[in-house]
Amino acid sequence: MSRALRVGGMVPLTTLDYPGMLACVLFCQGCAWRCRYCHNPGLIPPRASTEVDWRRVLLFLQRRRDLLDAVVFSGGEPTLQEGLPAAMDEVRAMGFHIGLHSAGIKPGGFAHALRHADWVGFDVKALAEDCQSITQVRGSGAANWRSLDALLASGVEYECRTTVHWHLIDPSRLLLLAQRLQALGVQRFAVQMVRTASMLDTQLPSAPLQAALPELWGRLRELFPAFVLRG
Ligand code: SF4
Repeated sequence: MSRALRVGGMVPLTTLDYPGMLACVLFCQGCAWRCRYCHNPGLIPPRASTEVDWRRVLLFLQRRRDLLDAVVFSGGEPTLQEGLPAAMDEVRAMGFHIGLHSAGIKPGGFAHALRHADWVGFDVKALAEDCQSITQVRGSGAANWRSLDALLASGVEYECRTTVHWHLIDPSRLLLLAQRLQALGVQRFAVQMVRTASMLDTQLPSAPLQAALPELWGRLRELFPAFVLRG
């Protein structure tokens, strides 16, 4: 049973979180990393007062069966919850496509969840050697990139995405990151400029360091069959 899935909030309808699909997003509660730019720090603790009972989530989805194509399990970090694969199967049985947003924090849990997903939005934090300066957790780079390997080996549809705050990653490191992704065979890559309205680390500046970088974006477009710049 998947009743233990802790959902900290939901967006009933979005066209942005699963390409080509009308989707509902479930924000799973809890995360083991502490990304300095995390824009939803309320999802980091394992429990929260905003949690929506799983049975209520299922009732909501029952009523939306003919209106939605997909359900995206996002976070927080959904793959930390043991109940995730069963919850994904329960939702799939209702006729929905299954999306997963993850940074692959625990490679074992991520690999397990991967088998239950139709599409993954995979959060590549930074080059493995740079990850800790963002996540504030030792070993996060190795975990992030091991999960990326599992994703690419799985054949599951995906998009790799990296959130950019120019105080945490500079353009030369972003280019090197993109080149490493390309060398691994990544086909779809998105750069998402950070949302500064709410960040875990309130000392991080909200103003960008860099102005427009057309040359960098041009080089990234050359590296991937599909490249997107957001924000
Ligand atoms: S941005 Fe980082 S800290 Fe926030 S939920 Fe995602 S992985 Fe966790």
